[in-house]
Amino acid sequence: MAIDINALVRPNIRDMQSYSSARSEFSGSADVYLDANENPFGSPTGTGFNRYPDPYSDRLKRELAKIKNVPPHQIFIGNGSDEAIDLLFRVFCIPRNDQAIVCPPTYGMYTVSAAINDVGVIEVPLSADFQIDTRAVISSFSSRTKLVFFCSPNNPTGNLMDRGAITEIAKVFDGLVVLDEAYIDFAERPSSIELIAEFPNIIVLQTFSKAWGMAGNRIGTAFAGSKIIDVMNKVKPPYNISSHAQEAAIEALDHESVVREWIDRTLSERARLSRELVKFDLVETVFPSDANFLLVKLNDAQTTYNFLLDRGIVVRDRSGVELCDGCLRITVGTTEENTRLLCILKDLDETVFKKSACKPE
Ligand SMILES: *Cc1c(COP(=O)(O)O)cnc(C)c1O
Repeated sequence: MAIDINALVRPNIRDMQSYSSARSEFSGSADVYLDANENPFGSPTGTGFNRYPDPYSDRLKRELAKIKNVPPHQIFIGNGSDEAIDLLFRVFCIPRNDQAIVCPPTYGMYTVSAAINDVGVIEVPLSADFQIDTRAVISSFSSRTKLVFFCSPNNPTGNLMDRGAITEIAKVFDGLVVLDEAYIDFAERPSSIELIAEFPNIIVLQTFSKAWGMAGNRIGTAFAGSKIIDVMNKVKPPYNISSHAQEAAIEALDHESVVREWIDRTLSERARLSRELVKFDLVETVFPSDANFLLVKLNDAQTTYNFLLDRGIVVRDRSGVELCDGCLRITVGTTEENTRLLCILKDLDETVFKKSACKPE
């Protein structure tokens, strides 16, 4: 498909000069650095923070490239995936004119980011089985539609989206398809990252925040054709990733085996939680999950939420969300945490639900 990325970029972004930082004008090595107005004595913590970080996180990209099988120039590093989402709006959507499509129930940041950027959102709800309504998405395209967001596995429903639906839509769409794979490490099916080689309009988002255990470090990644990556780099703040965050992420990549082990434990705990939860009378449905959380439909979500909270366990109340009526989203914890959760729910099940159901006063 011949899609012209340049033509999709907002004219003001296409025409502007990007900020040229000291560290991007000179990126070699020298004995003496007098170009960036840094403190030459050091940082008070003695950790070398007096120097500006690498503006493009090149070393991290080279390491990621090996693992992801994507060349470095097709990788964008953001201050969390949320920065990448925001940049896509700023680069491609003209405020008050262009639109994005989201498929609720899904991750709330797509709509929040659209609102911040004054970009309209068209909601095309998932079907009752939480899948993309391909026909409805395609029929809501207009010349103003620039972005479509899919989340797979989806937050908060936990399921993978049908890959055929995503590629079918990408094939006919003149804008960009954003595929958020924040939870892909927990999924049965591997990442769809290789789609970026075939589809110049697909952007895959991943993050260090979930399986990689680095939520506090704030690193998100976008994988796409180099024209998309280049224009995201043009608009991002010059030093968006701190030197500490870059180093910590590179170090994390050396510990892939422990991450694999945590994923395995999460999957077996997810299966156990799911098996045990369905036994309770208070649980109506435990939806199948390809993520590190379970969406659980209860016959009284509010009571259950408060009961857990009173006993020190906080879960996410999703009962007000489209198609998630009566649902709580429960992150899979450690074995001990999950056992504690099950224990408390058993208590609630026996004291409130079973008794009132079986032994009316
Ligand atoms: C948690 C999450 C992210 C991660 O966001 P970061 O900014 O990278 O921490 C992205 N997308 C979805 C759907 C998520 O649930």
